[in-house]
Amino acid sequence: MGKLIIQKLKKDLPDIRTNVPLKNHTTFRIGGPARFFFIAKTKENLIKAIQAANKNNLPFFILGHGSNLLVCDKGYDGLVIKLQFENCKLQEKSLYAEAGAKLANLVKLSLNRELTGLEWAAGIPGTIGGAIRGNAGAFKKAISDVIKKVEVLDSKNLRFKIYNLSDCKFGYRDSIFKQRKNLIILSAEIKLKIGDKNEIQKKIKEYLNWRRKNQPLNFPSAGSVFKNPKKNSAGKLIEKCGLKGKKIGKARISEKHGNFIVNLGGARARDVVNLIQLSKKKVKEKFKIELKEEIQYL
Ligand SMILES: Cc1cc2nc3c(=O)[nH]c(=O)nc-3n(C[C@H](O)[C@H](O)[C@H](O)COP(=O)(O)OP(=O)(O)OC[C@H]3O[C@@H](n4cnc5c(N)ncnc54)[C@H](O)[C@@H]3O)c2cc1C
Repeated sequence: MGKLIIQKLKKDLPDIRTNVPLKNHTTFRIGGPARFFFIAKTKENLIKAIQAANKNNLPFFILGHGSNLLVCDKGYDGLVIKLQFENCKLQEKSLYAEAGAKLANLVKLSLNRELTGLEWAAGIPGTIGGAIRGNAGAFKKAISDVIKKVEVLDSKNLRFKIYNLSDCKFGYRDSIFKQRKNLIILSAEIKLKIGDKNEIQKKIKEYLNWRRKNQPLNFPSAGSVFKNPKKNSAGKLIEKCGLKGKKIGKARISEKHGNFIVNLGGARARDVVNLIQLSKKKVKEKFKIELKEEIQYL
């Protein structure tokens, strides 16, 4: 049965791989194997992969840089499609970026072209596709501040559609793309303003220094585990519960930042989930506040 499926899939996707450890594709360095794994280097590749999954009744999952993701220890019994179309270019007054473009590359490009508006994204390790879906942000700014248009593929009918800013329904770490799993982000137009190169560079440095000082960047993680509740910092609430430094298995709530869980080497998803549940329970008991995950589960 398994052999038959792989033969069928290989006809459409010759480069498909099997049993690929997802820990190698997440910044947490955690996660069991994907039964099938395919890298889409073009939009056409992506469509082929979705068609192949549908034909074989396989669920599929879209992966960017895996920097906001906790993959379970058993892995994923379907097709993981990693988006690696990542062209970006300046187009009149906006930046055009394909979904797999790294935020770091967009920050670099905007600095080189003396464009301001993306400095806050320096140090966020994901793709623009992942950033738009979760409306990534930092330092009181978010990707929704600079989005002009998003090109989307509807995986239900394989039709392309353009979403203007108001169609994206951005909220705090939220968007229509998070609510509707059939919408896959293909590319985006980002509007920036002309700025002063030295000022842009200065801001980027300041933000990167802040991250180095306040975040545990020497261990694998998925960034902030929880969204900040209204008028509160999730990290501070966790810290006030005395949980900083709490360790389960090989995972630990960072001593540097209460909203980061770090992988000390060989952590299992189960260890992280146990720390997440403990944090939620203690914060609920002490402050009557329900923490909600920012990280996504697979
Ligand atoms: C050290 C560190 C610091 C971080 N700092 C920040 C921060 O300051 N602010 C912040 O907001 N985040 C931060 N993050 C989290 C993360 O980097 C961002 O949320 C990032 O935008 C996620 O992008 P990704 O490509 O890694 O997405 P992934 O983790 O690959 O995917 C996340 C979700 O998006 C979906 N997805 C990915 N690409 C697409 C697409 N093209 N179309 C539709 N769905 C898609 C996936 O299916 C998944 O559900 C940090 C992470 C780390 C490790």
